[in-house]
Amino acid sequence: KQIIVAIDGWSSCGKSTLAKQMAKVLGYIYVDSGAMYRAITLYFLRNHIDWTEKKEVKEALKDIELDFRTNDQNGTIEIYLNDENVEYLIRDLIVAEKVSEVAAVKAVREFAVAQQQKLGKKKGIVMDGRDIGTVVFPKAELKLFMTADNAVRVERRFKELVEKNPNITIEEVAENIQMRDYIDSNREVSPLRQAKDAIVIDNTNLTQEEQLKKALKLVKN
Ligand code: C5P
Repeated sequence: KQIIVAIDGWSSCGKSTLAKQMAKVLGYIYVDSGAMYRAITLYFLRNHIDWTEKKEVKEALKDIELDFRTNDQNGTIEIYLNDENVEYLIRDLIVAEKVSEVAAVKAVREFAVAQQQKLGKKKGIVMDGRDIGTVVFPKAELKLFMTADNAVRVERRFKELVEKNPNITIEEVAENIQMRDYIDSNREVSPLRQAKDAIVIDNTNLTQEEQLKKALKLVKN
């Protein structure tokens, strides 16, 4: 039986790495819900949308179309913003610095959650984010909540970002992770919370293989 796997947790805990690997092994669809908030943020930044203005946000959202497509070359799933592949652009720190503010806007969340729930109509899905087990799929058959030591998270994310941008500093990365976690867990609309029935995976001392094995065992049970 195909199920819904909801993976939530703090920023840079390896949620998407695990989600992608699980989806691959299980033959499920992988949906990166954070990519949706990042793509919306990119659109707002490019078009100078003031996301503190309700009307402006509402109008802007009408012009945003998001979809996920599979890259034929490497099989990875990439997000498209109005038919433009923005998978690479949305990972930039410029987007990361604003995304939590944008994701705290009620209309933005309603817009994104509706699309996420639609994607979940088809079972056999792994979705990662901050509110998947609590709000998007409160009835998901398997909920994981991921955490890792702060220093480990910063180190991992820094390694990833410095490849693209050699000027980035570890302090900037640390600050961004801390800020996002703060805003994400303190916002009014669906703050980051561990679902009551979620199973915690602390991967501070786990390799990717060990983490995957652990998660797959939970699918079978
Ligand atoms: O997962 P990722 O780090 O790419 O998410 C970027 C940001 O998008 C998070 O810091 C959070 O502000 C927002 N987000 C959210 N709800 C989700 C997924 C992401 O608010 N389900």
